[in-house]
Amino acid sequence: MRVGIPEKWDTEYDVVVVGWGSAGTAAAVTAHDQGAKVLILEKMADGGGNTRICGGNIIIPKGKEFIEYLDILSFQTTEREIIEIFVEEAMKNGEWIREMGGEVQVFTPLEVAYPTMIAGAGFPNVRGAETVVKYNIKGTLEEGKPSQRLWKFLSGLVAKRKIKVLTSTPAKELISSPGGEITGVIAESEGKTISIKARQAVILTCGGYENDPRMKWDYLPVKPAMFLGTPGNTGDGIRMVQKIGGDIWHMTRLSCLIGFQAPGFEAAFWVSFLSEGFIFVDKYGRRFVNEAGIEIHEYYRELSHFDVEKMEFPRVPLWAIFDEPTRRRGPLSRGTAGYNRDLYNWSLDNSAEIAKGWILQGKTAAELAGKVSVDPRILEETIARYNQYCRAGKDEDFGRAREDLRDLKPPLYAIQLWPALINTQGGPRRDKESRVLDPEGKPIPRLYAAGELGSIWGYLYQGACNIGEGLVFGRIAGKNAAAEKPRS
Ligand SMILES: Cc1cc2nc3c(=O)[nH]c(=O)nc-3n(C[C@H](O)[C@H](O)[C@H](O)COP(=O)(O)OP(=O)(O)OC[C@H]3O[C@@H](n4cnc5c(N)ncnc54)[C@H](O)[C@@H]3O)c2cc1C
Repeated sequence: MRVGIPEKWDTEYDVVVVGWGSAGTAAAVTAHDQGAKVLILEKMADGGGNTRICGGNIIIPKGKEFIEYLDILSFQTTEREIIEIFVEEAMKNGEWIREMGGEVQVFTPLEVAYPTMIAGAGFPNVRGAETVVKYNIKGTLEEGKPSQRLWKFLSGLVAKRKIKVLTSTPAKELISSPGGEITGVIAESEGKTISIKARQAVILTCGGYENDPRMKWDYLPVKPAMFLGTPGNTGDGIRMVQKIGGDIWHMTRLSCLIGFQAPGFEAAFWVSFLSEGFIFVDKYGRRFVNEAGIEIHEYYRELSHFDVEKMEFPRVPLWAIFDEPTRRRGPLSRGTAGYNRDLYNWSLDNSAEIAKGWILQGKTAAELAGKVSVDPRILEETIARYNQYCRAGKDEDFGRAREDLRDLKPPLYAIQLWPALINTQGGPRRDKESRVLDPEGKPIPRLYAAGELGSIWGYLYQGACNIGEGLVFGRIAGKNAAAEKPRS
C-alpha cells in the first residue's frame, strides 16, 4: 500500500474521477456543478468504455414496486436500503437527463430476436416487474445508434463544462494518509508516473474485469468467458481497492450473452437470432435448453454446467445450428452494440461470414457434423428429434413454446459460440452513499465508487440497470465527494 503524501504532487484537484464512462461522467459533472475542480483520468485513448458501445438502454422505473422486484432479484446480496435509494433516484434519471439538456424516449426493440426478453422485465413473473421501463436518449437511428446518442450526450456534458480529462492515463494506485484517508492517485502518463492530489475525494468508476483473464478464471462460474465490450476494463479498480484494504463484493456476478470469437478480433461478436429456425447443441451435438427462453443476460446459467465425469464444461463452446430462412433473415451479429460494432460490418445475409469460414455449411446434418467435429449420428438424431417436436407442436425435452418451433431443413449452418460478457458486476463493496467500505463495513475516508465497478447487482440482473446505476450512484458519489471538507 502506498501511504503518505508525496514530497511534491505533480498536480492537484478537488475531486479525481478514475474512468470515463456513464458513472464517471455523472460523478464528474455533479461534483463540478457543486463547485469542485474535477479531473477525469481515462486509461484508453478515448473515453466511453462500455457505455459508448452498449445497447443504450437506461432504466427509469415507473413505480416504487420496482424495489420489491429488485429486492427479490438480489436474493439478499444487496442491502435493501441501497436498492431503495437506487429506485428513488433511478425514477429521476429522465429528469436529470432533461435538466442536463437531453431528452429521453421509451425503448422499442427494432426487431424481434430470439430470445425476446430484451424490451421489458427480464423476470416477468416477479412481483413489481410491470414497473420496468427502458428508455434511451431521444433520436433516430440516422442520428446514431442508442449508445452513440448516449455517449454524445454524456461526453458533451463534460466538454461543455471544460472538465479536464487526461486520456491514455491509467490510474495505478491510490495514495492514503497514515490515518487511512485517500489523498490522491498515482497514474501513468506517456511512460511517466504522475502523482495527483485529491483535496476532497477520489471516485473510482473504472469498470469491471471483463478483459482480465485471470480474474475471470478465478471468479466466474463459466470458463472461459469472452467479452463483448471494451478491452480497457481489466479490474484495475478492484486491485487498487484491495491494496488499500477495501472490501469487495458481487465478484462472481456477470451479465453474459453468447458470442462468436473471430480470429484477429479482441472482443467477441454478440450473436442472436432473428428467426425461430435454430437450436443450440453442446460439444457432442446434443440439445440442452429451450433456446428461445433464455433471459439474455443470464446465458451463463445454461452454459456453466460442469461434467464431473469428463472434467469439462460440455457447453463451452456450444454450436448454434440454423436453417436457410434464418441465414437469410438478417445478420447474426447486428452491430447495434459491442466493441466490434465500429470495427466490422457483418453481412446482411451472413454470406461474407460463410465465405470466411466463420459460419459453416452442410448440405445434410451429417455433412455439417463432420465440419463441427461432432459424431454425425448424434447430430442427425438431435435434429430429427427436434423436427419431430416441431411437427407435433410440442418440445418434449425442453418445453420450447409452440410459436418458437420450426423444423430445420437442409441446407444447415453452424456457428461456434462462447459465453460472452456484457460485463462483470463485482468490485469494491459500497454503501448507499457510494462510499467504499473496508471489510468491517466502515467507509474508507474520501473514497467513492460507482458503475459496474462493484455494482449493486449481486445476483440476478435486470437489463438497463447498469447504465441506470452508473448515473444514479455516479451522481451520489459526485455530490458527496464535492461535499467533503477540502484538505489543505
Ligand atoms: C454489448 C453491450 C451492451 C450493453 N447494453 C446495455 C444496455 O443497453 N443498458 C445497460 O444498462 N447496460 C448495458 N451494458 C452494460 C453497460 O454498458 C456497462 O455496465 C456500463 O456502461 C458501465 O458503465 P461504467 O461507467 O461503470 O463503465 P464504463 O463505461 O465501462 O467505463 C469505465 C472506463 O474506465 C476506464 N478505465 C479502466 N481502468 C482504468 C484505469 N486504471 N484508469 C483510468 N481509467 C480506467 C475504461 O477504459 C473505461 O473507459 C452493455 C454492455 C455491453 C458490452
